[in-house]
Amino acid sequence: MSTERLVATFVALARIDSPSRREAELAGYCAAHLEDLGFDVRTDTAAGVTGSNTGNLIADLPPLDPDAPSLVLSAHLDCVQPCEGVEPLVAGGYISSAGETVLGADDKAGIAAILEGVQRAIEDGVRRGPVRVVLTVCEEVGLAGAKALDLAEVEGDLCIVLDADGPPGGIVVGAPTHYTFTATFTGVAAHAGAAPEKGISALVMAAEAITAMRLGRLDARTTANVGTIAGGTATNVVPAAVTVTGECRSLDDESVESVRAEMDALMSAAAAAHGGRVESVWTREYGAFEVAADAPAIGAVSAACADVGIEPRLFATGGGSDASIFASAGTPTLVLSCGMENIHSVDERIAVDDLETLTALVRAVIGRVSGHPE
Ligand SMILES: [Zn+2]
Repeated sequence: MSTERLVATFVALARIDSPSRREAELAGYCAAHLEDLGFDVRTDTAAGVTGSNTGNLIADLPPLDPDAPSLVLSAHLDCVQPCEGVEPLVAGGYISSAGETVLGADDKAGIAAILEGVQRAIEDGVRRGPVRVVLTVCEEVGLAGAKALDLAEVEGDLCIVLDADGPPGGIVVGAPTHYTFTATFTGVAAHAGAAPEKGISALVMAAEAITAMRLGRLDARTTANVGTIAGGTATNVVPAAVTVTGECRSLDDESVESVRAEMDALMSAAAAAHGGRVESVWTREYGAFEVAADAPAIGAVSAACADVGIEPRLFATGGGSDASIFASAGTPTLVLSCGMENIHSVDERIAVDDLETLTALVRAVIGRVSGHPE
């Protein structure tokens, strides 16, 4: 019965268009749903920063046991394109999209599991502590909503972000520090046929620098990549300007700083070797977080997994999520696998069984965190 209600909620969410920066309609639907459950709902001022037509949605459920530990449940409202006019199809135990769109289970599976999981906890009369729901905008465009959120909003005894793929039971306990860069190589333009010796090729500098870099998976905890290169004007001109973008990530701050320094040094050396210049601008997208395996937060979520008959699988990820921003508030923050498959593609789907298990897990986490697991 409540699985039917869960699927109906998911399908309703999937039908509402919510590309990044146009989350208002979905936020309105979620606000009404949460108010019906007894939440006090408000919207923050993130819209002024993100350019979205709404802010982040923050909703508080008054506790039945005010002394019990507090829980923050979070998911994001926006979807990657193509995500407009989604026609969800429920067949063969799976929910998929009928048309040429993503399904949007990333991250509407997380939203549906929160809405239904909280409702079950309320209906079961769980002696819960304070429960806050935070639904962000613009996660898919550089975590912009989370970055604009007042981090006091995600303070509590435990913060759970529902936004990882893989079957329920997956618990992301760590994510890397992430740096991106834009480097502009400057040489001297010259006619490639008439006076090549007057030119200094920015493209050659960039190519030498990239060739010298260690890229890919540098060790179990560190990665680096050059993502784009652009520049030059014509075949008969020695290119005077080339722009390279890239990144590095590591679970260890020391490693990420040394890789960043190494990439910078190689770019400077290549430019200098040819008598050119390079200017690089680095952005620290977010910092690393890691929750210790023996932390009470992991104990509570692992116990909740056992309550619903699944095996917890702890792992660190190389990717970022809103949790990468939230964790800097100092609250133990975990990301849960939501069962969504083939995300960011038109083949995206989710098994009804996985959606149900995820929801049961949310319900169990509310019980475990509040200390009233019955
Ligand atoms: Zn997501």
